Amino acid sequence: MIGLISATAAGTAARDRLAAAWPERTRVYDGPVGDAVRAAFAQCEQLVCFLATGAVVRLVAPLLSDKRADPGVVCVDEGGRFAVSLVGGHDGGANELAVEVGELLGAQPVVTTATDAVGLPGLDTLGFPVEGAVPAVSRALLDGEPVALVSEVPWPLPPLPVAPRGAYTIRVTDRAVEPAGHEAVLRPPSLVVGVGASRNAPVEEVLGLVEGTLREAGLSGRSIAELATVDAKAEEPGIVAAAGRLGVPLVTYSAVELAAVAVPNPSDAPLAAVGTPSVAEASALIGGGELLVPKRKSAMATCAVVRRPARGRLAVVGLGPGARDLLTPRAKAELQRARVLVGLDQYVDQIRDLLRPGTRILESGLGAEEERARSAVAEARRGQAVALIGSGDAGVYAMASPALAEACDDIDVVGVPGVTAALAAAAILGAPLGHDHVSISLSDLHTPWAVIERRVRAAAEADIVVTFYNPRSRGRDWQLPKALAILAGHRAGTTPVGVVRNASRPDESGRLTTLAALDPATVDMMTVVTVGNTATREIAGRMVTPRGYRWQEAQEGAK
Ligand code: SAH
Repeated sequence: MIGLISATAAGTAARDRLAAAWPERTRVYDGPVGDAVRAAFAQCEQLVCFLATGAVVRLVAPLLSDKRADPGVVCVDEGGRFAVSLVGGHDGGANELAVEVGELLGAQPVVTTATDAVGLPGLDTLGFPVEGAVPAVSRALLDGEPVALVSEVPWPLPPLPVAPRGAYTIRVTDRAVEPAGHEAVLRPPSLVVGVGASRNAPVEEVLGLVEGTLREAGLSGRSIAELATVDAKAEEPGIVAAAGRLGVPLVTYSAVELAAVAVPNPSDAPLAAVGTPSVAEASALIGGGELLVPKRKSAMATCAVVRRPARGRLAVVGLGPGARDLLTPRAKAELQRARVLVGLDQYVDQIRDLLRPGTRILESGLGAEEERARSAVAEARRGQAVALIGSGDAGVYAMASPALAEACDDIDVVGVPGVTAALAAAAILGAPLGHDHVSISLSDLHTPWAVIERRVRAAAEADIVVTFYNPRSRGRDWQLPKALAILAGHRAGTTPVGVVRNASRPDESGRLTTLAALDPATVDMMTVVTVGNTATREIAGRMVTPRGYRWQEAQEGAK
């Protein structure tokens, strides 16, 4: 139960909102504040006090005994601006409560405990099953005590501030080890279990065979990544249900694919039934890896276990145009998931404060694209979790394509889209991209001018809205006037043109002009230039490209 205490009218109004939102979880304590806090402290697991922190500190101080038993206390200020986790941040759940209360009341959660303040990942939030002394090891990481990492299975882990040796250990293993006293065990999804079954083999038998096989081989079921079988068994109830109970996906392969896999124990029975001499071994081995347990059989089922090779992880992350609130939550999560960060130094600066301790940063200056692409892929192929960053969207005139051109299918690639400059600029200008539009980079460093010109011409003829990236630099000053002249061959001089510099950055500026009036000298490399089509208008100071709705035409006609 959460005890709610307030004193003033404003506090009481906020208190009532909380009580109304969480009727089952909360209880209101009325009466003199001191008595209310003491009663709630004795009776509730958590308190939310709509009082100054000072008042609450004085009231609860004499009541505190043990942080494992004391309630978590959150204070909300009179203005409802902050939800402060005051006492019991972790054990009392006050940190999470501050976040929840903050969301509900529109208040900023204030959390000052070390883990959250330094952005250390909780071991239980790394995305892997974890066993053993999780709280003790987390605390040791926080307190800066040496924690050793023992990777029996190399796996792309997030950054962890680990030492070569220490009294505490994080062990990464798929073996069924019993964690030692000061040890937390992370379970990577490293095992693929190939299964076969005769028709209507019961789930108990399939599951029993899989679990028994793992047990005898000393492997942990929590490291199973997937069950695998032949297409013909994709609907086999016992196999489908076994995957369901294990909580892992079932993947299937065609008999032809499986027949091509070399296996130690082929046999005639599956060949006759489904057209491949091996189901269990072949479907476990098809993605490569080490056969830990060759085919085992029960009356109606078979299984084999493979440890698949670790696959590195390359996240290609767009940071957005500049402002922190245009960086997506997913981009932030990927930055904190990466153990190695690769990027242009000025982009690294943009997000350095978000990185977790232990992140290795490979930053380089302008022009080192090839090196950045190479090293990001090379690190991922080494089994690391890597983030390759770019401003805006990392795939738009940026690092995604050179990196993926370097990469083979031996790494996992995750793309996180970002708000590209054309969109950031459009939002400032109005609605210039309301109809078909195209982006064209005017940089002829890597693209011959003839190609660029052909594309500008095509856009001009097709009456498409154009956003120019890389429009003009000190050494490249004739391209923009040339491109604008081509467009002017097909559009009136009065066509609206939006010029946006440093969109969403502190010195953002945006202005509207026309094709005839644009002075190219006001454009630089921090700028995008958006040229309207023949229907684009300036309306109330905003750039609007009509969608062409019939109802709007009718309205125009009636005027
Ligand atoms: N990947 C980036 C584009 C890189 S090309 C993106 O998706 O936005 C670099 C060009 O993008 C610059 O020369 C400029 O034309 C444009 N640009 C990038 N960020 C910008 C911003 N915040 N405001 C205006 N233009 C920007």
